[in-house]
Amino acid sequence: MDKEKNKSALHVNAGVDKPASVNPALEKNPEKFRKGKPSVETLFNGIHEGNRTALSQAITLVESTLPGDQQMAQQLIQQCLPFSGNSFRLGITGVPGVGKSTFIEAFGLHLIEKKHRIAVLAIDPSSARNKGSILGDKTRMEQLSTNSNAFIRPSASGGTLGGVARKTRETMILCEAAGFDMIFIETVGVGQSETAVAEIVDFFLLLMLAGSGDELQGMKRGIMEMADLIVINKADGDNLKPTQKAQAEFKNALHFFPPLPNGWIPDVLTASALQHNGLDQVWEKMENFQKLTRTNGSFDQNRNHQSLQLFEDSIHQGISDHFYRNPNIEEKLKALREKILNKEISPYEASVELLDEYFKQSEI
Ligand code: GDP
Repeated sequence: MDKEKNKSALHVNAGVDKPASVNPALEKNPEKFRKGKPSVETLFNGIHEGNRTALSQAITLVESTLPGDQQMAQQLIQQCLPFSGNSFRLGITGVPGVGKSTFIEAFGLHLIEKKHRIAVLAIDPSSARNKGSILGDKTRMEQLSTNSNAFIRPSASGGTLGGVARKTRETMILCEAAGFDMIFIETVGVGQSETAVAEIVDFFLLLMLAGSGDELQGMKRGIMEMADLIVINKADGDNLKPTQKAQAEFKNALHFFPPLPNGWIPDVLTASALQHNGLDQVWEKMENFQKLTRTNGSFDQNRNHQSLQLFEDSIHQGISDHFYRNPNIEEKLKALREKILNKEISPYEASVELLDEYFKQSEI
């Protein structure tokens, strides 16, 4: 009878306790659990030899939030820094479906033929929110991903967009130390991640489509202003004519944008990522850009500016974290928010009161 009862679909098995999501012993002694994991030295040597497994493990360390891992990651980045920087860092954006992954694969293979080594990373605003990832789908870029001169890494998930961008920058350093001289940073053209990408690359490529109607309006205009080159993709078949028409329109629109301080004049090209057409012209533009900006000094100026910007951003982040982690501040913050909403205190006064409290504590 009991046996019969157990067969019923309504029978519920006794549950088991859910295991802790983090091993409680781990936090006490993170080093102890790192046995078997490669040391900083091993990883560095592997990266230096261009070993992709070592590079993958190192990136996992960079992306980890465990304090022990973070410490190792920073040591590793420090060691890799002198061997980094010798690459062309290329940001690629465009709306979903424009052909980013098709283009990256075709362009990447094209450059591998020219003896370059390609690393593809991603900054994905959706991954910061829900762990989705534009490169998460393994079927994308199949040919490139199996090529020994390419390295493809999905976007780091979790954390803020700023956090993901910082980790991508650190990952870029590791890739460069591993001998990848072309770094592609892909992002979805939805308006917020472009700025984060623009801050860590040398060149910004915008992929567009002909006939999407609202080409020159709203948000896209802002992204267009950031672009060093616009490529109208899918210039093939019936789409060839509309693409050429769009090229003329976009070229015209670019005339009205203010000139860039580095002396570069953005242009509009057409390409078919699917048929591997127009890729040489795209590369020629990039080579011209490098020649111009390396000669007039703006290439290094831009990188120096980015380094100082990162330095400032990290300080702001550190101060802000310290402030918000303070338990007293947390309490007071809640109370002051209420008071502001009840119009008992002005937002400015409230901030002064809270900062005074914070500075008083910091003096002790
Ligand atoms: P992503 O979302 O921007 O990465 O776009 P995908 O690379 O996944 O491409 C979206 C669709 O457009 C796929 O079906 C591709 O085969 C197609 N596609 C990409 N590039 C071209 C192209 O140059 N010409 C044509 N006709 N189709 C393309």
